[in-house]
Amino acid sequence: MKAVRLEAVGSIALRELAKPSPGPDDLLVRIEACGVCGTDRHLFHGEFPCKPPVTPGHEFSGIIEAVGSSVCGFSIGDRVTGDPNIACGRCSHCHAGRVNLCSNLTAIGIHRDGGFADYVVMPQKQAFILPASLKPTHGAFCEPLACCLHGVDLAGIKPGSSVVVLGGGVIGLLTVQLARLAGATTIILSTRQASRRDLARELGATVTVDPTATNVIDAIAAPAGLAPGGADVVFECAGVRETVEQSMRIARAGGTVVIVGVTPQGMKAEFEPFDLLFRELKVLGSFLNPYTHGRAAELIASGAIEVDRLISRQVALEEAPAVIANPPAPGEVKVLVVPGHA
Ligand code: NAP
Ligand code: ZN
Repeated sequence: MKAVRLEAVGSIALRELAKPSPGPDDLLVRIEACGVCGTDRHLFHGEFPCKPPVTPGHEFSGIIEAVGSSVCGFSIGDRVTGDPNIACGRCSHCHAGRVNLCSNLTAIGIHRDGGFADYVVMPQKQAFILPASLKPTHGAFCEPLACCLHGVDLAGIKPGSSVVVLGGGVIGLLTVQLARLAGATTIILSTRQASRRDLARELGATVTVDPTATNVIDAIAAPAGLAPGGADVVFECAGVRETVEQSMRIARAGGTVVIVGVTPQGMKAEFEPFDLLFRELKVLGSFLNPYTHGRAAELIASGAIEVDRLISRQVALEEAPAVIANPPAPGEVKVLVVPGHA
């Protein structure tokens, strides 16, 4: 089979590998689509630890081609999405139900071979069934959606809440849609690219802000702003210092800030502890997708989340190494790697 191999930091290429065979508890899945994520680029640049050689790709779905001897509940021909994050089940965090904080967490596509290949092998406990009728590319959105779902669960949005999303990449655009489903009636998105602001309004943002043209804090939280006094919930989905600092100023007194964006390790941001205290802000981190992958699969299967318009382009495995080695093109939201794509 063909697989994209990260062979060392800065070295990635398409290789011919033996088709893997499933262990007793595993599924062998023929990949239909696998999304390219910022983490794949971080792996390539050595900004995220992994042990090459490895096949990256953790946003995948496909069709079961073979099942191990102990597999039950899955059949050959089923379409499945894989939760790439494998918790050990025996550390204190796992025993406390905090599987995303597992001390021995490993991930498909980071620590073991992932979805930028013709086939992937995954433990059956990581798999969730998708309908046969689903568009084959849509399953690739379950993993990013599951991460956004965890953030939205933590935020406690209520019907009528006001929500701000900072950063209009795929994570921000999925979060906008989840906020709408959760009942938010004011949904404000700030992102620099006009095409993403347009898309956000089509997907449920009630209003968008261009952070290069206006003071975002004033535009939103000032008495005559879009959410006077600040928003009930702010999602930081850009992962840069500027938006982290904005997030705490844009939340209303008693409001909630959810940090979803991954800032570079060691980066510092300024906030006023007095402000946190005096305005009783709740600032929460949201990491990965604990117990949300199944609901993400339900949301994708039901069509409640629009993903087609988030697909900027589809590429074959042959083109994937160059896509991962280069920064995203302007306007690009999600690139899908589709084995055999013409
Ligand atoms: P992304 O495409 O890089 O989206 C972030 C976007 O934020 C950028 O594309 C950029 O769009 C926008 N941005 C940058 N500076 C900004 C500013 N000053 N003001 C407003 N917007 C700004 O990445 P993504 O895939 O959507 O992911 C977003 C973040 O979530 C990343 O940091 C990613 O690592 C993280 N993430 C976290 C989890 C988790 O479990 N917590 C899971 C997946 C991803 P414009 O050019 O339009 O401004
Ligand atoms: Zn554990």
